[in-house]
Amino acid sequence: MTDFSSTKPLFALPEGVTYLDGNSLGPLPIAAKERVTACLRDEWGEMLITGWNKAGWMDQPRALGDRIGRLIGAAPGSTVVGDTLSIKVYQALASALELRPDRRVILSDSGNFPTDLYMADGLARSLGQGHRIETPPPEEVGDRIAAIGEDLAALMLTEVDYRTGRRHDMAALTKAAHKVGALVIWDLAHSAGAFAVDVGGTDADFAVGCTYKYLNGGPGAPAFIYVAPRLADQVRPALSGWLGHDAPFAFDPDYRPGPGIDRMRVGTPPVVQMAALEAALDIWDNVDMNALRTQSVVLCERFIKGVEATCPDLALASPRDAAMRGSQVSFRFEHGYAAMQALIARGVIGDFRAPDIMRFGFTPLYIDEGDVDSAVETLSDIMATRKWDRPEYHTRAAVT
Ligand SMILES: *Cc1c(COP(=O)(O)O)cnc(C)c1O
Repeated sequence: MTDFSSTKPLFALPEGVTYLDGNSLGPLPIAAKERVTACLRDEWGEMLITGWNKAGWMDQPRALGDRIGRLIGAAPGSTVVGDTLSIKVYQALASALELRPDRRVILSDSGNFPTDLYMADGLARSLGQGHRIETPPPEEVGDRIAAIGEDLAALMLTEVDYRTGRRHDMAALTKAAHKVGALVIWDLAHSAGAFAVDVGGTDADFAVGCTYKYLNGGPGAPAFIYVAPRLADQVRPALSGWLGHDAPFAFDPDYRPGPGIDRMRVGTPPVVQMAALEAALDIWDNVDMNALRTQSVVLCERFIKGVEATCPDLALASPRDAAMRGSQVSFRFEHGYAAMQALIARGVIGDFRAPDIMRFGFTPLYIDEGDVDSAVETLSDIMATRKWDRPEYHTRAAVT
């Protein structure tokens, strides 16, 4: 069991703020300040270039990958960190398509995060082999797999919808795609650190995700990629960078992929950012993922109940059944942007996704029942008194 009252003080949460946006950018783990400072002062500052060996910088992408691996059900040695999630999506999909050279369809869904679809589109155009991307509504993906059948090269889905929090059935869809001989890529951006994932048990081929959302690695923290061990020595990296080479320091003019997951590395890892991620993962190492999920459901249910009882203008956009949701709750409201600005002005931080979604993330590591109740109270006051309807709350900022 995890005592979540002991994890809350491990985060820097400004006084007067209820932070319900850890699904978008996790807060600062206090220990990250000292860890990053030590990296700058004692490693970069003192060791200079010898830090690559002495401070173990070069091994960090694999070591951090293994720690994330525990949270997503990946065997040791099958996950590595680096680059951004957009890049990792591209890598996974490119490898999958190359393993299914005679097939032409990439199946995703209309709820996927745009960058995943943009990267797929860019890859398909670069390949110039006539790949087609299909994006049916999320609930029709299962039927579409069977309909496409043997032309399906890759099923590429984000497990939890970033807008609504709706969760796909990872095991069932992976099985259905495998049945027609396709490969499966799961984007775990809103899963890793939200609940226990089992990439090994569900037999996923590839999984990718970011570390700055639920994992709290900080803005710009590197992404991760998992490749099933049964495929890891077969995949050919499309982004064949020198650190994915079998012998990077042989400076061989020809590319030869490294063993297993090492070949998914591309270039120089972000050392300072990895120091922050390391501190964030120190907290995760002690978290029981089943306890986390139980508490996440408690918080989400409490929020839904409170909002529905006091805010008749808000309509639940997330599945009502907790088993079908990730660790966020979304409500629709025509003036959702303004209402969210009014909430933020009062210290309750969530976010807004066009056209009308107010999004709230629930993260048991630092959000408790008291936070949920005060967020509900503030939201219901703003709605009942129409405090959102002020000109300054209607002006859109660049980042929503
Ligand atoms: C957050 C998120 C991304 C972000 O990609 P970056 O390259 O890290 O900016 C991509 N895909 C999904 C599904 C996300 O939720």
